[in-house]
Amino acid sequence: MASKTVEAVLFPGIDVRVERVSDSSNVLLVEAVSTVRPGRCPDCRKQARRIHRTYQRDLNERSLGSRRVIVRLQVRRYFCDRKTCSRKTFVEQVPGLSERHRRSSTRLTGWLRSIAIELGGRPAARLCRRLHLVAGRTRLLRLLTAPMVPDRAPRVLGVDEFAFRKGCTYGTVLVDVEAGRVVDVLPDRTSQTFAAWLTEHPGAEII
Ligand SMILES: [Zn+2]
Repeated sequence: MASKTVEAVLFPGIDVRVERVSDSSNVLLVEAVSTVRPGRCPDCRKQARRIHRTYQRDLNERSLGSRRVIVRLQVRRYFCDRKTCSRKTFVEQVPGLSERHRRSSTRLTGWLRSIAIELGGRPAARLCRRLHLVAGRTRLLRLLTAPMVPDRAPRVLGVDEFAFRKGCTYGTVLVDVEAGRVVDVLPDRTSQTFAAWLTEHPGAEII
């Protein structure tokens, strides 16, 4: 059997380096450092160059056996160097692991959402407790709402038409081309609807 790095086992395809794994009776603590390349300001999309500071944030991860898993992730806060931008600093996110304003890893959030979809509020919360997953009922229910539409359009925005049913009404699907993710779905294919969406979600550089 080929030997793999601990990163390849725990975080396949994710840009982190694992520094240490420590183990107490009910918590596995994984200390990791982000290795993602400097990103762009979420507001003005300027490429980040200067680090403001680094710090650690704790993310709940999927449990391992009877133990909760916490990823203590070291991330960088960058300056936005565009003078006209109202955002002075911003924190990097590690794709596939961390999300803005979320204390669960992307993978744990995916699990929780699936459980909430199948079971709803209270039974879902009970199952999560049994599985040692950190999630209250309110949080689980909140995950049931449609995926959040970002405030800003992605840098490269893909636009495609689709039929709600074969030969029926058409809608428009908006895609973040770089992330390979659906951003939003518009109820028709008129240019007015799309223009209105672009006004509310600025930031697309290439459409
Ligand atoms: Zn900015």
